[in-house]
Amino acid sequence: NGLSKHRKIAVVGARNVGKSSLTVQYVESHFVESYYPTIENQFTKQVVLGKTNYTLEICDTAGQDEFSLVNTKSLIGLKGVAIVYSCVNRASFEIVELIRDKIIDQLGLEHIPTVVVANKIDLREELGDGGDSVAAVTRLEGAALAKRLNAGFVECSAKLNVGVNDVVLQLLKRIEGHDLTGGNG
Ligand code: GDP
Repeated sequence: NGLSKHRKIAVVGARNVGKSSLTVQYVESHFVESYYPTIENQFTKQVVLGKTNYTLEICDTAGQDEFSLVNTKSLIGLKGVAIVYSCVNRASFEIVELIRDKIIDQLGLEHIPTVVVANKIDLREELGDGGDSVAAVTRLEGAALAKRLNAGFVECSAKLNVGVNDVVLQLLKRIEGHDLTGGNG
């Protein structure tokens, strides 16, 4: 389809935060309990936003941690990143900024459109208010980090399919630099 705009985005973050689950939920509309985590996968999805057709190329990167660099090949032509953490794994939250810094460093940019994604909110709810929530990352903490990084922020659950579409919507919005929903704001 020569009329659609091609946009490449990557899903990055610590191991086990749900990058593959989110990508599969977004692209194929189902939740996979166990997904082989070691492989890097490319997906494409057509999405219509406003009056524009987009062909999204989604790079579901293999699990990273603070020591492994993001695969340089997967960064070529990248227009935006979703940096995912698990809101019930504080360590995954604490490396979000580091991952962002590595990506812009490798791309040689000062900024890349970014959405910070708090996944697994269904598990945080299970912990409840009375539980030991030291490990849990609150919405406020996530939003504050995103603001500091000049990024969007979405809380979601790949399992329950809550907020998943919003990740892509917010990211595209940032990539295109305007509100694609055509609101009169
Ligand atoms: P990745 O290594 O970041 O790609 O993480 P995976 O997508 O492989 O997910 C890691 C584990 O977390 C798997 O067992 C998933 O089933 C589980 N998982 C992913 N997303 C969610 C979620 O939103 N809620 C819950 N409860 N589990 C999730």
